[in-house]
Amino acid sequence: MLFDHPYQVKKWTKSIGGRSLKQVFNEAQAAYVQQRGLTLDERLGQIRAVKKAILARRESIVERVMAEVGKSRTDALIAEIIGAVDWLEWLERRARKVLADEKVPTPITLLGKKSRLYHEPFGVVLIICPWNYPFHNAITGIAAAYVAGNAVIYKPSEHAPCQGLVEDIIAAAPLLHAAVKVVYGDGKTGSELIEQRPGKIFFTGSCATGEKIMQQAARHLIPVELELGGKDPMIVFADAGLKRPVAGALWGAFTNAGQSCSAVERLLVEDSVHDAFVAKLVEEAGKLKVAEGDSKGDVDIGRMTVGFQRDKVVEHVKDALAKGAKLVFGQIPATFDLLVKPIILTNVTPDMLVWRDETFGPVLPVMRFGDEGEAVKLANDSDYGLCASVFTADKSRADRVTRALEVGGVSVNNVNMSEGNPGLPFGGYKRSGFGKLRGPEGLLGFTRSKSVLIDVTGDKIEANWYPYTSGKYERFQRFIHALYTSHWARLVRIAWTGLRLEAFSQKPR
Ligand code: NAD
Repeated sequence: MLFDHPYQVKKWTKSIGGRSLKQVFNEAQAAYVQQRGLTLDERLGQIRAVKKAILARRESIVERVMAEVGKSRTDALIAEIIGAVDWLEWLERRARKVLADEKVPTPITLLGKKSRLYHEPFGVVLIICPWNYPFHNAITGIAAAYVAGNAVIYKPSEHAPCQGLVEDIIAAAPLLHAAVKVVYGDGKTGSELIEQRPGKIFFTGSCATGEKIMQQAARHLIPVELELGGKDPMIVFADAGLKRPVAGALWGAFTNAGQSCSAVERLLVEDSVHDAFVAKLVEEAGKLKVAEGDSKGDVDIGRMTVGFQRDKVVEHVKDALAKGAKLVFGQIPATFDLLVKPIILTNVTPDMLVWRDETFGPVLPVMRFGDEGEAVKLANDSDYGLCASVFTADKSRADRVTRALEVGGVSVNNVNMSEGNPGLPFGGYKRSGFGKLRGPEGLLGFTRSKSVLIDVTGDKIEANWYPYTSGKYERFQRFIHALYTSHWARLVRIAWTGLRLEAFSQKPR
């Protein structure tokens, strides 16, 4: 029998304050309708209030998240607070431009008309989150959805519900608070929420659940965005030196105890420096402080959050060792403890689970490569495609490799940093999902576009309206010829054939 850590939060059963899910959806829909008339500036005022509340109460948010998921204090501060506040700031500065009505050029074939594009909300969107960044993931999604004009049903993970935390913080913004309904529960609750037919589902979590959600959403034709798992490679070329890439690899692999979708889960090191690199990696890993209850902020790595994830670490490490990998740092984790010390493996081969499947724990498998082509091939040999990092002093090589990698984000001479800029969209290729969080695309993802063509009023009849006649057909043929055939007098020919067509169109009978 496996024992989970005493800190582990009990699973939450469905909790919606005695209301049915239908009622909760109706409340969200009513809030959406009530707030439809708000200006974007009024919505951004709500975001500003939330930002202020987060900043003022950041220490208590950090404490709460630490107690619930076990991460180190600095991990909590950086990812949960800075990550969230940066995005709110970005919304305040950039949302006006991204969401503004657009004037779209109208082609010559539609002369005299105007074209516009409006970005409109879906109504009620459903945001389903995982347990690894319980505050950040909630706030970023909720804020983007609300700024875009939606009401939100938010379902946190049953493994890190942080019950009441999001509601407490957003209470500083009463309108936003009224437009967000939090429903606690497990996967079954998530599935029941989908049956209420939200306008859109924004899901962050595992590939397995992503597949289920997409299948269920397909039955109702609900659009989905899926932010799923990863198996991110980090490629280190010999010219990158040792100090910076070693430090980057350790942080990239072990931040949040490796429970990050874009953690470094595969380290590729150029042959000529592989042995020296591994030696330095092991030396530096030995200096990391791994502990629980980080009262002052001097712990590097906290505990893992859930027992089933620790069990996956055990499974992957045992599988790798059985297939010939070498454990150069750490040990097979005890199955009764969530405090898992970092693990570094060498002699790793592509058939090992630790190289193929997402581990989502503090494990760093290392593989050597001979040249650039091999590095890219090994990196791309994965079902996943979330992010990657490349360390090299050669700028053109960095660019070549960046373009060749089949992933949604690349950090050059850094790690996990393409997601550090809220202006850069975050999201994967391949089985890491589709759709984007943050950046202009991430904000527009909570809207649907409405295309508008505006014409004049009056008696005028369009050339393409009835009646169709052989004469009109002939003029259309000439017009097409003038439009799409290169000729020195092309514009004159377009004007002439266009005018004749237009004149013809004035005579409906
Ligand atoms: P999970 O898929 O088990 O659960 C995620 C959420 O989905 C939870 O709230 C859960 O209750 C809900 N859920 C489960 N079954 C459901 C169903 N049938 N219908 C509706 N909802 C359902 O994932 P997890 O274990 O909580 O999180 C870890 C995974 O999340 C990892 O794979 C990690 O890579 C991924 N992740 C991805 C990103 C990203 O942005 N790409 C970010 C964080 C985590």
